[in-house]
Amino acid sequence: MKALRFYGPGEFDLREVETPSYGDGDILLKVKAAAICGSDIRMIYNGYKGVSRETPRTYGHEIAGVIEACGKNVTKEYQPGDTVAVAPNMGCGVCDMCVSGNTHLCSEYKAFGINMDGGFAEYVTVPEIAVRQGNLVKISVGEKFSFSKAAIVEPLSCVFNGFEKLNIRPNDTVLIIGSGPIGIMHAMLARMAGASKIIINDLSESRLKTVAEFDPFFVTSCGDDLKGFIMEQTNGKGVDACITACPAPSAQAMSLELLAMNGRVNFFGGLPAGKDKVELLTNLIHYKQLVVTGSARASLRQYRTCMRLVETGVLDIDRIITAEYPIEAYEEAISNARKGIGLKNVFVF
Ligand SMILES: [Zn+2]
Ligand SMILES: [Zn+2]
Repeated sequence: MKALRFYGPGEFDLREVETPSYGDGDILLKVKAAAICGSDIRMIYNGYKGVSRETPRTYGHEIAGVIEACGKNVTKEYQPGDTVAVAPNMGCGVCDMCVSGNTHLCSEYKAFGINMDGGFAEYVTVPEIAVRQGNLVKISVGEKFSFSKAAIVEPLSCVFNGFEKLNIRPNDTVLIIGSGPIGIMHAMLARMAGASKIIINDLSESRLKTVAEFDPFFVTSCGDDLKGFIMEQTNGKGVDACITACPAPSAQAMSLELLAMNGRVNFFGGLPAGKDKVELLTNLIHYKQLVVTGSARASLRQYRTCMRLVETGVLDIDRIITAEYPIEAYEEAISNARKGIGLKNVFVF
């Protein structure tokens, strides 16, 4: 089969490799769509632990496809030919986090395309532990629901995790710092929850233009005087909820100043290693009764919830997919994703 192989910072190619084997409890999945994530770009260009010339890896953790074959012990719930989307994170299955439904927070956590081979290939093996934990979600692909859409439910589920922490209520004002696909997904969820004003800030004019075209309800703000803008937009009160969907330490520090009384913030975007020591005015947290939250990855419940929201049309994420590529066009796809051209770039097979 064809697979994109990654060897170290900036080193990758497309090559013919052996189709992966599968055991009695495993499922072999024929990949139909695999979306490129910001974290893929980080791993591709910065390298990732354990990935080298000797031990290459296939990235890609936003995956949907067709079941090619099932091991003989796999539950009859899954059959060859079934169309499925795959949640990437799996836990050990027995620790307190896993038992509480938080397999994504397990200390033994593994994920497709991160610490094991993923979806930038024609086939991927779904191991027994993932099959049994319910990582595969059956989907019906047709006119209204594509493999590509199913693939980008993964980042949506991570956004949904942050969204749940913020408890956005009707008439809340919401600020999102960062206008990439993640920022737009946050904005869509805030809109779904009834926010009366959704402001998206970014340093890039062209990205904000995309946001404004996406939904004219979204208010865009470019540049540095964010505080002045927010106070003007909220009658001097600040926003009820804020999401930092960018890797900027300054956004985290500033967010506390932009929040209203009883405001909530979600530090959604992680910071680059070594830049995560941020000075916060903690008296703002104290006197304004702020809630500071973080979120990482998503639980299987959140993944399935998001799949339903998209399948039923409650959320229309179609326009977030701005380009589809055959795997042979990997150089162009990865380069476009790196430059932030378009929103989601997806490999289709
Ligand atoms: Zn991702
Ligand atoms: Zn566990």
